[in-house]
Amino acid sequence: MSGPRRPLLAGNWKMYKTTAEAGRLARDVRAGLGDALAGRDVVLAPPFTSLLAVAEAVRGSGIGLAGQNVHPEVEGAFTGEVSPVMLKDAGCSHVILGHSERRQMFGETDEGVAKKALAALAYGLTPIVCVGETLTERESSRTMEVVERQTERALRALSADQVVATVLAYEPVWAIGTGKVATPAQAEEVHAFIRRLVDRSHGEAAARGLRILYGGSVKPDNIGALMAQADIDGALVGGASLKADSFLQIVHYPKA
Ligand code: PEP
Repeated sequence: MSGPRRPLLAGNWKMYKTTAEAGRLARDVRAGLGDALAGRDVVLAPPFTSLLAVAEAVRGSGIGLAGQNVHPEVEGAFTGEVSPVMLKDAGCSHVILGHSERRQMFGETDEGVAKKALAALAYGLTPIVCVGETLTERESSRTMEVVERQTERALRALSADQVVATVLAYEPVWAIGTGKVATPAQAEEVHAFIRRLVDRSHGEAAARGLRILYGGSVKPDNIGALMAQADIDGALVGGASLKADSFLQIVHYPKA
Protein backbone atom coordinates (compact mmCIF):
# COMPACT_ATOMS: atom_id res chain seq x y z
CA MET A 1 0.00 0.00 0.00
CA SER A 2 2.30 2.80 -1.16
CA GLY A 3 1.39 6.36 -2.15
CA PRO A 4 2.89 9.65 -3.27
CA ARG A 5 4.57 10.48 0.02
CA ARG A 6 7.44 12.95 0.04
CA PRO A 7 10.56 11.46 1.67
CA LEU A 8 11.54 13.04 4.98
CA LEU A 9 15.04 12.82 6.43
CA ALA A 10 15.36 14.11 9.98
CA GLY A 11 18.47 14.49 12.12
CA ASN A 12 18.09 14.01 15.88
CA TRP A 13 21.10 15.67 17.48
CA LYS A 14 20.09 14.52 20.97
CA MET A 15 22.20 16.20 23.69
CA TYR A 16 25.06 17.09 21.38
CA LYS A 17 26.38 20.42 20.06
CA THR A 18 26.90 23.79 21.66
CA THR A 19 25.24 26.78 20.03
CA ALA A 20 28.29 27.57 17.90
CA GLU A 21 28.71 23.93 16.82
CA ALA A 22 25.02 23.59 16.00
CA GLY A 23 25.01 26.75 13.91
CA ARG A 24 28.06 25.52 12.00
CA LEU A 25 26.57 22.08 11.36
CA ALA A 26 23.28 23.58 10.18
CA ARG A 27 25.11 25.96 7.83
CA ASP A 28 27.14 23.04 6.43
CA VAL A 29 23.99 20.98 5.88
CA ARG A 30 22.34 23.92 4.15
CA ALA A 31 25.35 24.52 1.93
CA GLY A 32 25.54 20.84 1.02
CA LEU A 33 21.90 20.71 0.04
CA GLY A 34 22.33 23.50 -2.48
CA ASP A 35 19.30 25.48 -3.54
CA ALA A 36 16.92 22.61 -4.03
CA LEU A 37 15.78 20.00 -1.57
CA ALA A 38 15.26 17.76 -4.59
CA GLY A 39 11.80 16.61 -3.61
CA ARG A 40 12.84 15.63 -0.08
CA ASP A 41 11.99 17.18 3.27
CA VAL A 42 14.88 17.73 5.66
CA VAL A 43 14.42 18.45 9.37
CA LEU A 44 17.06 19.19 12.03
CA ALA A 45 16.40 18.60 15.74
CA PRO A 46 19.07 20.31 17.87
CA PRO A 47 18.92 20.69 21.66
CA PHE A 48 16.59 23.48 22.85
CA THR A 49 19.53 25.82 23.54
CA SER A 50 20.55 25.71 19.86
CA LEU A 51 17.13 26.11 18.25
CA LEU A 52 17.57 29.82 17.58
CA ALA A 53 21.06 29.38 16.13
CA VAL A 54 19.83 26.63 13.80
CA ALA A 55 16.69 28.61 12.90
CA GLU A 56 18.93 31.48 11.85
CA ALA A 57 21.22 29.17 9.86
CA VAL A 58 18.38 27.53 7.88
CA ARG A 59 16.08 30.55 7.43
CA GLY A 60 14.63 30.65 3.91
CA SER A 61 16.14 27.28 2.94
CA GLY A 62 13.07 25.08 3.37
CA ILE A 63 14.89 22.99 5.99
CA GLY A 64 12.58 22.23 8.92
CA LEU A 65 13.43 22.66 12.59
CA ALA A 66 12.29 20.33 15.36
CA GLY A 67 12.26 20.30 19.14
CA GLN A 68 13.15 16.97 20.75
CA ASN A 69 10.25 17.13 23.21
CA VAL A 70 7.45 19.47 24.28
CA HIS A 71 5.11 20.00 27.22
CA PRO A 72 1.40 19.87 26.30
CA GLU A 73 0.46 23.10 28.13
CA VAL A 74 0.94 26.56 26.65
CA GLU A 75 2.58 28.00 29.77
CA GLY A 76 2.67 27.52 33.51
CA ALA A 77 4.64 26.46 36.53
CA PHE A 78 6.43 23.53 34.84
CA THR A 79 10.09 24.01 35.67
CA GLY A 80 12.40 22.66 33.00
CA GLU A 81 9.72 22.30 30.33
CA VAL A 82 9.13 24.03 26.99
CA SER A 83 5.70 24.64 25.44
CA PRO A 84 4.48 24.26 21.84
CA VAL A 85 4.09 28.03 21.59
CA MET A 86 7.71 28.45 22.63
CA LEU A 87 8.87 25.93 20.02
CA LYS A 88 6.89 27.78 17.34
CA ASP A 89 8.33 31.06 18.55
CA ALA A 90 11.85 29.62 18.22
CA GLY A 91 11.12 28.72 14.58
CA CYS A 92 10.15 25.05 14.91
CA SER A 93 8.00 23.29 12.34
CA HIS A 94 8.23 19.82 13.93
CA VAL A 95 8.67 18.14 17.30
CA ILE A 96 9.96 14.64 18.12
CA LEU A 97 7.70 12.85 20.61
CA GLY A 98 8.05 9.62 22.56
CA HIS A 99 11.65 8.88 21.57
CA SER A 100 12.66 5.62 23.25
CA GLU A 101 15.33 7.45 25.24
CA ARG A 102 12.57 9.60 26.74
CA ARG A 103 10.32 6.58 27.29
CA GLN A 104 13.10 4.57 28.95
CA MET A 105 14.98 7.24 30.91
CA PHE A 106 12.44 9.98 31.57
CA GLY A 107 9.19 8.11 32.19
CA GLU A 108 7.43 9.16 28.97
CA THR A 109 4.14 7.25 28.66
CA ASP A 110 1.82 6.46 25.75
CA GLU A 111 -0.75 8.80 27.31
CA GLY A 112 1.80 11.60 27.63
CA VAL A 113 2.82 11.18 24.00
CA ALA A 114 -0.83 11.33 22.91
CA LYS A 115 -1.41 14.59 24.81
CA LYS A 116 1.74 16.12 23.40
CA ALA A 117 0.78 15.12 19.84
CA LEU A 118 -2.59 16.86 20.18
CA ALA A 119 -0.98 19.97 21.65
CA ALA A 120 1.68 20.06 18.93
CA LEU A 121 -0.94 19.82 16.18
CA ALA A 122 -3.08 22.49 17.84
CA TYR A 123 -0.16 24.92 17.65
CA GLY A 124 0.89 24.07 14.11
CA LEU A 125 3.79 21.74 14.84
CA THR A 126 4.18 18.42 13.03
CA PRO A 127 4.65 15.67 15.60
CA ILE A 128 7.21 12.97 14.81
CA VAL A 129 5.94 10.19 17.05
CA CYS A 130 8.43 7.43 17.81
CA VAL A 131 7.38 3.84 18.41
CA GLY A 132 9.41 0.64 18.63
CA GLU A 133 10.13 -2.50 20.56
CA THR A 134 13.07 -3.42 22.80
CA LEU A 135 15.30 -6.41 22.08
CA THR A 136 13.56 -8.46 24.79
CA GLU A 137 10.18 -7.67 23.25
CA ARG A 138 11.39 -8.66 19.76
CA GLU A 139 12.94 -11.87 21.06
CA SER A 140 9.70 -12.79 22.79
CA SER A 141 7.73 -12.16 19.56
CA ARG A 142 5.97 -9.11 20.98
CA THR A 143 7.10 -6.57 18.36
CA MET A 144 3.71 -6.13 16.70
CA GLU A 145 1.84 -6.03 20.02
CA VAL A 146 4.10 -3.24 21.35
CA VAL A 147 4.06 -1.23 18.13
CA GLU A 148 0.28 -1.62 17.91
CA ARG A 149 -0.23 -0.37 21.47
CA GLN A 150 2.10 2.62 21.05
CA THR A 151 0.67 3.59 17.66
CA GLU A 152 -2.95 3.12 18.64
CA ARG A 153 -2.62 5.18 21.83
CA ALA A 154 -0.67 7.98 20.16
CA LEU A 155 -3.17 8.34 17.32
CA ARG A 156 -6.55 7.47 18.80
CA ALA A 157 -7.58 11.04 19.71
CA LEU A 158 -6.54 12.38 16.29
CA SER A 159 -8.82 12.91 13.29
CA ALA A 160 -7.88 11.36 9.95
CA ASP A 161 -6.59 14.75 8.75
CA GLN A 162 -4.48 15.10 11.88
CA VAL A 163 -3.01 11.65 11.27
CA VAL A 164 -1.91 12.73 7.79
CA ALA A 165 -0.34 15.83 9.38
CA THR A 166 1.60 13.58 11.76
CA VAL A 167 4.79 11.62 11.09
CA LEU A 168 5.43 8.25 12.70
CA ALA A 169 8.94 6.91 13.26
CA TYR A 170 9.45 3.19 13.73
CA GLU A 171 12.60 2.92 15.81
CA PRO A 172 13.42 -0.55 17.13
CA VAL A 173 15.17 0.22 20.42
CA TRP A 174 17.80 -2.46 19.79
CA ALA A 175 18.88 -0.63 16.63
CA ILE A 176 19.29 2.84 18.15
CA GLY A 177 22.90 3.89 18.55
CA THR A 178 24.04 0.27 18.34
CA GLY A 179 25.20 0.05 14.72
CA LYS A 180 22.73 -2.84 14.40
CA VAL A 181 20.28 -1.71 11.71
CA ALA A 182 17.02 -3.59 11.07
CA THR A 183 17.11 -5.34 7.72
CA PRO A 184 14.97 -3.63 5.08
CA ALA A 185 12.60 -6.63 5.28
CA GLN A 186 12.31 -6.41 9.10
CA ALA A 187 11.60 -2.68 8.91
CA GLU A 188 9.15 -3.01 6.02
CA GLU A 189 7.21 -5.71 7.85
CA VAL A 190 6.56 -3.32 10.76
CA HIS A 191 5.94 -0.27 8.55
CA ALA A 192 3.34 -2.16 6.49
CA PHE A 193 1.77 -3.39 9.73
CA ILE A 194 1.52 0.20 11.05
CA ARG A 195 -0.08 1.32 7.79
CA ARG A 196 -2.66 -1.46 8.09
CA LEU A 197 -3.39 -0.39 11.68
CA VAL A 198 -3.97 3.20 10.54
CA ASP A 199 -6.14 2.00 7.66
CA ARG A 200 -8.29 0.20 10.22
CA SER A 201 -8.43 3.09 12.72
CA HIS A 202 -8.52 6.19 10.48
CA GLY A 203 -9.31 4.98 6.98
CA GLU A 204 -7.52 4.39 3.73
CA ALA A 205 -6.66 8.02 2.90
CA ALA A 206 -5.01 8.54 6.28
CA ALA A 207 -3.05 5.30 5.93
CA ARG A 208 -1.94 6.26 2.43
CA GLY A 209 -0.93 9.80 3.46
CA LEU A 210 0.86 9.06 6.75
CA ARG A 211 4.63 9.19 6.49
CA ILE A 212 6.43 6.47 8.43
CA LEU A 213 10.16 6.96 9.00
CA TYR A 214 12.60 4.25 9.99
CA GLY A 215 15.15 5.02 12.71
CA GLY A 216 17.99 2.96 14.16
CA SER A 217 21.61 3.07 12.95
CA VAL A 218 20.74 4.60 9.57
CA LYS A 219 23.97 5.30 7.69
CA PRO A 220 24.92 6.35 4.15
CA ASP A 221 25.47 2.69 3.19
CA ASN A 222 22.08 1.35 4.32
CA ILE A 223 19.66 4.21 3.56
CA GLY A 224 19.19 3.26 -0.11
CA ALA A 225 17.97 -0.27 0.63
CA LEU A 226 15.66 0.98 3.38
CA MET A 227 14.16 3.68 1.17
CA ALA A 228 13.52 1.13 -1.58
CA GLN A 229 10.82 -0.44 0.63
CA ALA A 230 7.25 0.50 -0.24
CA ASP A 231 6.24 1.67 3.23
CA ILE A 232 9.45 3.39 4.36
CA ASP A 233 9.05 7.10 3.74
CA GLY A 234 12.21 8.49 5.29
CA ALA A 235 14.54 8.20 8.24
CA LEU A 236 15.11 9.58 11.72
CA VAL A 237 18.87 9.68 12.02
CA GLY A 238 20.84 10.02 15.25
CA GLY A 239 24.61 9.47 15.18
CA ALA A 240 25.04 9.92 11.44
CA SER A 241 23.29 13.30 11.56
CA LEU A 242 26.00 14.82 13.76
CA LYS A 243 28.38 15.26 10.81
CA ALA A 244 27.31 17.18 7.72
CA ASP A 245 28.90 14.82 5.22
CA SER A 246 27.26 11.62 6.50
CA PHE A 247 23.87 13.32 6.93
CA LEU A 248 24.08 14.83 3.44
CA GLN A 249 24.91 11.43 1.96
CA ILE A 250 21.80 10.08 3.66
CA VAL A 251 19.64 12.96 2.42
CA HIS A 252 20.99 12.44 -1.12
CA TYR A 253 20.50 8.66 -0.97
CA PRO A 254 20.44 7.21 -4.47
CA LYS A 255 17.00 6.24 -5.73
CA ALA A 256 16.84 2.48 -6.20
C1 PEP B 1 17.67 8.19 17.05
O1 PEP B 1 18.22 8.80 17.95
O2 PEP B 1 16.48 8.40 16.83
C2 PEP B 1 18.45 7.22 16.30
C3 PEP B 1 17.84 6.50 15.40
O3 PEP B 1 19.80 7.13 16.58
P1 PEP B 1 20.92 6.35 15.70
O4 PEP B 1 20.72 6.75 14.25
O5 PEP B 1 22.23 6.82 16.24
O6 PEP B 1 20.70 4.88 15.89
